[in-house]
Amino acid sequence: MKCTFWGVRGSIPVPGPTTAGYGGNTSCIEIHDDDAPSLILDCGTGVRKLGGKLMGLPGREIHILFTHFHMDHLFGIGFFTPVFVPGFHITVTAPAFHPDGPRDRLGRFLNGVFHPVRIPDLGARLDFDAVRPGDSFQRGPWNIRGFTLNHPGGACGYRIDRNGRSTAYVTDTSPLSRPGEGLSGGKPPTSREQALCDFLRGTDLVIFDTMYTYEQYKRFMTYGHSYPEYAVEVCKHAGVKTLCLFHHDTEASDATLDALAAKWADHESPRIFLAREGVTVDLEG
Ligand SMILES: [Zn+2]
Ligand SMILES: [Zn+2]
Repeated sequence: MKCTFWGVRGSIPVPGPTTAGYGGNTSCIEIHDDDAPSLILDCGTGVRKLGGKLMGLPGREIHILFTHFHMDHLFGIGFFTPVFVPGFHITVTAPAFHPDGPRDRLGRFLNGVFHPVRIPDLGARLDFDAVRPGDSFQRGPWNIRGFTLNHPGGACGYRIDRNGRSTAYVTDTSPLSRPGEGLSGGKPPTSREQALCDFLRGTDLVIFDTMYTYEQYKRFMTYGHSYPEYAVEVCKHAGVKTLCLFHHDTEASDATLDALAAKWADHESPRIFLAREGVTVDLEG
């Protein structure tokens, strides 16, 4: 199982010299194996470049999982070349939080107004599915389970397992306990946190929303994002091997993120690194 980061930023793309190191594109991750179709986690602006890669491969089966439809996770889909090309078969899966299904919700963006192309005009065959957090389901050879996160409007985290390897994608989310309570307060997990730890138990790699510093989190608690110390506590309790800090703040420069990486560089159980655009992690190696 390999994991490639195509977009690591939250909220809005931030290209420019101070963000070139970690990258300015918004959320998009590819889970892949040489013998399996790619599984795409969110379609932020990073998915545009991934489209170029997939066009050059022989496979025509692609699976997309959306955590939610906030624009930083959605905006790239209209610029993802395979959706325009006949012969591609793409499944689009999103959480079933709303009475409208994923096709209707996506269709509000790809509608001829916010984007020139409408879903019926796309060349690829698209199949849509809505999943309830807690459901287990399969996409190609990938075994997947969902988990309800703590985010305005709802978001669904996913755990992906295959051949004894596992990655979990936990964004966008606030801590599941209030400051001073549960793992936020250095205490035993709340029941919701225990459920999250059970969901993540023994995962090789957890990619976690750590957009804020703890100070920022206290100012923006209702915005639905977390901070590194909280992600570390969750992963410790869940016996996770490696934690990836993800969904970087728009204001976080390369220098700021380098300092964050240095702070956690020597941490064991879990090991910790920062998501960086263009990097591939091979969980077999
Ligand atoms: Zn986001
Ligand atoms: Zn969001």
